[in-house]
Amino acid sequence: MDERIRDDFPILRRHEHGKPLVYLDSAATSMKPGAVIEAEADFYRKSYANVRRGVYELAAEATDLYEGARAKVASFIGARPDEVVFTRGTTEALNLAAWGLGETYVDPGDEVLVTEMEHHANLLPWQEMARRQGAHLRAAAVTQDGELDRDDLRRKLSPRTKVLALAHVSNVLGTVNPVAEVAAEAHRAGTRVVVDAAQSVPHLPVDVRELGADLVAFSGHKMLGPTGIGILWGRNDLLSELPPLLTGGEMVREVWLNWATWDSPPARFEGGTPPIAQAIGLGAAADYLRAIGMDEVRRHGEELTALALDGLLGRPYVTVYGPRDPALRGSLVSFSVAGIHPHDVATLLDQEGIAIRAGHHCAQPLHRRFGIPASCRASFYVYTTPDEVERFLAALDRVWEALR
Ligand code: PMP
Repeated sequence: MDERIRDDFPILRRHEHGKPLVYLDSAATSMKPGAVIEAEADFYRKSYANVRRGVYELAAEATDLYEGARAKVASFIGARPDEVVFTRGTTEALNLAAWGLGETYVDPGDEVLVTEMEHHANLLPWQEMARRQGAHLRAAAVTQDGELDRDDLRRKLSPRTKVLALAHVSNVLGTVNPVAEVAAEAHRAGTRVVVDAAQSVPHLPVDVRELGADLVAFSGHKMLGPTGIGILWGRNDLLSELPPLLTGGEMVREVWLNWATWDSPPARFEGGTPPIAQAIGLGAAADYLRAIGMDEVRRHGEELTALALDGLLGRPYVTVYGPRDPALRGSLVSFSVAGIHPHDVATLLDQEGIAIRAGHHCAQPLHRRFGIPASCRASFYVYTTPDEVERFLAALDRVWEALR
């Protein structure tokens, strides 16, 4: 990775407690390059107006920028623009998916299948949908190595399974799930497949058609883009069958006092004034990642993950969760330090300017599966250097010496 990339991220010049910031929490959210900050600011400075409704030139320009951003994001994931719905983030996208699929396809006695490794954002919307529809929620197991138990998934997949929802990359274990293979099996059972790609689209080359899913959700803020913007991708024929989650302005064709007809996708799912500047910022983020090349982003992430895994596995006081092979992982590693609470580890690392995450990472059932209440997580992105990973590992030894 080009060293100059770091210069594009103004926040990385910060110091914490007198030490240069080592930001190892990109799985929670990524930092923003100047190009993204400027794209958003430029829109407010030069082209700002509401989209879709104005006939004047400024509104047309704003609409072009907004729709241009949709086209950039679509091409980033190998999709068509009319298949890309802007949401506030992965959470909203998955809620939209659960609402729409529930209303359309799920009846009392049906089943919805998730996995034990899901983020709460890909669990609670399905819990709620199953409750509303009188359906049963089931979960495929995770093996001790942190992989999806494919046999258990096969056992739980039946003609009653209307939806399978799973993560592409686990935000705790790092596991890259074989979505294309699993989706093919699910489709043979007549099941619709929803993928939480919050941790994959930012880090791996993802082509939604190769992924083979029916709906795919991800967030802008984890891929160098702004907060408040995310994506639900869906095949247009499927999106056309789903009802909206939000009703209101700009998502309708005809409105009478007692009834209304919905617009076609993606407008149908974008009721109200959308996050316009954020979408434009996300378009700039997609441009930035594309200029680096997603193969290079992946290669860099794998290199850093290999370095961290190697260092952590070589320390007898550390327990690592998830696959041992960096090729089977996203750009993150979760671990525990023997007898020391994850919050204490993170607090002492912060004293050295190193930001890692400690907690259940919004995956309580998964932590329960491994018999722990919480874990530490270090995660990496395009601006992370091997030197930073080494500094983290050396600081971890000092934490261990201080608290053992
Ligand atoms: N799924 C996964 C796997 C995640 O890592 C996250 C973010 N922590 C989410 C869903 C939720 O994303 P957001 O908070 O951007 O809606």
